[in-house]
Amino acid sequence: MKSKQIIEIARKLSKPYRVSNGKKFRLKNVDPSDTGDLKAEDKPKAIEALQMGVEELAELQDVLYAQDRWSVLLIFQAMDAAGKDGTIKHVMSGVNPQGCQVSSFKVPTSEDLDHDFLWRCMKHLPERGRIGIFNRSYYEETLVVRVHPEFLAGQKLPEKCVTKNIWSERFEDIRAFERYLTRNGTIVIKFFLHVSKDEQKKRFLERLDLPEKNWKFSANDVKERGFWDDYMRAYEETIRETATEDSPWYVVPADNKWFTRAVVAAAVIDAVASLNLAYPKVSPEKLKGLSEAKKALLASQ
Ligand code: ATP
Ligand code: MG
Repeated sequence: MKSKQIIEIARKLSKPYRVSNGKKFRLKNVDPSDTGDLKAEDKPKAIEALQMGVEELAELQDVLYAQDRWSVLLIFQAMDAAGKDGTIKHVMSGVNPQGCQVSSFKVPTSEDLDHDFLWRCMKHLPERGRIGIFNRSYYEETLVVRVHPEFLAGQKLPEKCVTKNIWSERFEDIRAFERYLTRNGTIVIKFFLHVSKDEQKKRFLERLDLPEKNWKFSANDVKERGFWDDYMRAYEETIRETATEDSPWYVVPADNKWFTRAVVAAAVIDAVASLNLAYPKVSPEKLKGLSEAKKALLASQ
């Protein structure tokens, strides 16, 4: 299949899940078990399409790297067991590791807490020509920290800075930060992998029942599950406040892993393809230099 066709399909597949105007967004309108126009029996076809998408992405990334102007930041947020790790692994599997950087953000260290909340993420922003992946991010600041205000108390903020508007101030700061990045050549795309509470339970049980999955089980994940509704409210508000035309959220149904991966790959392809990248043009002087180098090389022993 030609690149143009793949990009067209990617655009169509990812579009329904793109939120670029947060004000209209309602989480209840996204069904975690949705698989778009695809049915369960289409799964093998979707996996095949994902493989094609992965190859296309590898080509796009090669041009991104060669051009060395834009960078792409992909942010992944989700409840536990929604499939962040697997999605990142599959979607980026064809990409040249030199052009891609994955950073995971867990509970902040004491060094992190000695700085403003964006600091630890800023240190990991992708260089020009690279794709940066954040496995969790500064969005935890309006998600887990909102659900557990005791984390906020541990952030050593001066009392005066903890106003009653702290959450809307954080949204404002995040919007401004992402606008700043966009203006400086970094495309920011955010993914919320939206798994249902039932499917999460199934996946946790699998982690308990299958020896090869035992290592993935964490009692804390079950504890956080108890705050499900609070998390959903925090996700909805975060998306409503930070989805913009320039840095949209994709709210991706995550009960079917094959579908999640296909949609994420499609969204990344769409974003990079929209940059209309091209390999750098070689100047006439450089071309002359190349032909002289070739002559010299051929004449050498
Ligand atoms: P996996 O379980 O697949 O290894 P993970 O991202 O869930 O990946 P964990 O170490 O299990 O990694 O969990 C990281 C935890 O850190 C999450 O519960 C997350 O909410 C929490 N966290 C991340 N950022 C912050 C923050 N700024 N403040 C408080 N907690 C945070
Ligand atoms: Mg975890």
